[in-house]
Amino acid sequence: MTDFPNINDTNYFTNRTLDNEKGEPTGKIVMWRIRGEEEFHYILKCPFCGHDQEKKELFPRKPYRPRCEKCNKSILIAKLKKKK
Ligand SMILES: [Zn+2]
Repeated sequence: MTDFPNINDTNYFTNRTLDNEKGEPTGKIVMWRIRGEEEFHYILKCPFCGHDQEKKELFPRKPYRPRCEKCNKSILIAKLKKKK
């Protein structure tokens, strides 16, 4: 498994749980982009089918939606809710 990068070398980094259709946190994703690179790198556990995948992919614009290669569902990386 890939080591996570030093956060200082990235211009994007997220690590969060992903909910399935029932709102249960059955998946997770760690995604980052190294400074100077165009592709994002992510390690995903699909919340819908449990499939693990690791991939490099270009996401031209937000919101980022990686797609599970097994169940073919697109997975929305929603904006984080702001804490009050
Ligand atoms: Zn899936």
